[in-house]
Amino acid sequence: MIKINNLTKRFGETTIFSNLDLEINKGEIVVVIGPSGTGKSTLLRCINFLETADLGHIKIDDVAVNSPQATKADILALRRKTGFVFQNYALFAHLTARQNIAEGLITVKGWKKEEAYARSQQILDDIGLGDRGDAYPSALSGGQQQRVGIGRAMALEAELLLFDEPTSALDPEWVGEVLTLMQKLATRHQTMLVVTHEMQFAREVADRVIFMADGEFVEQGKPEQIFTNPHDPRLKKFLNQVG
Ligand code: ATP
Ligand code: MG
Repeated sequence: MIKINNLTKRFGETTIFSNLDLEINKGEIVVVIGPSGTGKSTLLRCINFLETADLGHIKIDDVAVNSPQATKADILALRRKTGFVFQNYALFAHLTARQNIAEGLITVKGWKKEEAYARSQQILDDIGLGDRGDAYPSALSGGQQQRVGIGRAMALEAELLLFDEPTSALDPEWVGEVLTLMQKLATRHQTMLVVTHEMQFAREVADRVIFMADGEFVEQGKPEQIFTNPHDPRLKKFLNQVG
């Protein structure tokens, strides 16, 4: 169970959001949608301390952390519970696919190199890149790179995977394979918090959709409720715009 309370983030004088509460059940797939600049990325980044929230309590299983007082040890403990998939993959260019996936196991979890590489090969097989382990990111397609990005998060067997628009930097031809991999994780009941503009994915895969606007969770519910019976005018407008 993941519990986030009172999450508040300001950049200088600007409050991005204040007192956000979010609970996510084990195995739940939560998709966040909403207009640009509304704080979706900042929300994800505050959850694993890529940004430090001005206020907030974050609890994942037995790890409970207060922002901004969290110590380095607190943050590391929380990061062990989360995996982050970035829009631009953020792979290490000088490491192969196998090494990219193994990196977190070695540095975060303290695995021996041989063990980490063996696990990395299992992940490569799982993400359909079993024969591309020695390839550097520059030799992989955008879709393949993002699958490695997801594989890297999968390797850590994190309680919660955070996805920040994992397909929006991809050429359209590569979007499907990445969404298919995310769907596979969903069927395994991997707990996921996904920011995406892929409404079809939200409709088909989400257990719950949250519409975020102006730094607030304006409306949330099951996909059919959000997409076929939206209430808030901002949500109606947003859905009209994204088609
Ligand atoms: P998009 O859909 O375009 O990705 P978003 O909902 O993810 O938008 P955020 O990236 O979270 O939005 O940004 C929310 C607000 O915070 C924006 O106004 C943005 O300009 C501002 N912001 C984000 N990061 C910083 C930063 N490091 N310093 C100052 N302001 C920031
Ligand atoms: Mg964003």
